Amino acid sequence: MYDIQVTGRSWVEIDLGQLGRNYEIFKKSRSRDCEVMAVVKADAYGHGDVEVSRTLNGMGVRQFAVSNVLEAITLRRAGIEGEILVLGFTPVEMASCLVEYDITQTLISERYASELLSAPGAHTIKCQFAVDTGMNRIGLDADNTAECERVIREYAPKCRLNGLFTHLCVAESTDDDNIAFTVGQVEKFRRVVQSVDDLRLPYLHCLNSAGAMYFSDVCRGFESIVRLGIVLYGLKPDFSSVLPDGIKPVLRWKTVVSMVKEIDGGEYVGYGRSFRAPGKMLIATLPTGYADGYSRLLSNCGCVYIRGMRAPVVGRVCMDQMTVDVSDIDGVRDGDEVELIGEHFGADDMARLIGSIGYEVVCNISKRVARIYKNGQSL
Ligand SMILES: *Cc1c(COP(=O)(O)O)cnc(C)c1O
Repeated sequence: MYDIQVTGRSWVEIDLGQLGRNYEIFKKSRSRDCEVMAVVKADAYGHGDVEVSRTLNGMGVRQFAVSNVLEAITLRRAGIEGEILVLGFTPVEMASCLVEYDITQTLISERYASELLSAPGAHTIKCQFAVDTGMNRIGLDADNTAECERVIREYAPKCRLNGLFTHLCVAESTDDDNIAFTVGQVEKFRRVVQSVDDLRLPYLHCLNSAGAMYFSDVCRGFESIVRLGIVLYGLKPDFSSVLPDGIKPVLRWKTVVSMVKEIDGGEYVGYGRSFRAPGKMLIATLPTGYADGYSRLLSNCGCVYIRGMRAPVVGRVCMDQMTVDVSDIDGVRDGDEVELIGEHFGADDMARLIGSIGYEVVCNISKRVARIYKNGQSL
């Protein structure tokens, strides 16, 4: 499956078959006309944007979302077909790339629309307006429907405007106040959409993963496109979320034991002498550290799995190495495979320990960690 000589010290295994199953299970849970816009920003949440997008393109996905124009160009150069929407800002100097690579740009404000669309040839750029319904990040302010309508009508003829979208900022919450807020966001979006109904913009969307799980019914009329990110990768929008049956993590992160040593009670482990052995212990050193994206916040609190058994992280996580307690695991030796993230301990579990979210954990796995693909079309 993998060759340790090639994969080296720390590697991620990505099961493209599971990615495909996650997509299919999600699709089955939706009405037939529902289209998935695969959110593959940040290198597909660390999973590899080209490999993930090729797999999904091959399964019929025709819409992709990325964070910036360079990510979009990477996908086009890799042969990805269909719409590619840049969700964020693109410098006006790069306007020609949008046309050259047939990329759809989000118009984040009136000022930005005016600057971008005054570039030569800009009327051929595909665009969608972001509408801000309460997150206060980007988009036209939906509190002023008339102003949104004016701006959309003014710029629609100056580009190839094909859609409007908004972003829900608390759709993963089941708290009453938050539910009311989300419903309010959808209603604000609906008012803007209705004000420009006659433009017949084909792409109207507001649902992310959590929105799709909990708010599809309040989004009638624009629930047919779901911007699906985290669920594709088999992780939860929130620790409390229950994913549909069969949706599972796509990624496993592994390393090896580089050495095992016995230490005496009273000895210290690692920088800062932050761990002191209470008695005789067996310590295994692993060649993965925070430069690989293994958070230093896991020092003296994380755990890994070796031979199916839990080994607590002892001492501080270093830049390139870390140390774990294997006193209770029989027969650990150099070269043993170690699970950092996998079936015993997932990205969501790791996130919870360090006060983060699964999204951040997988995005942070650094480029120097090799990605090994399984069950995909050969690339
Ligand atoms: C990242 C992002 C998404 C995807 O969110 P998930 O929670 O991963 O499904 C959707 N829409 C926008 C605008 C985003 O930035």
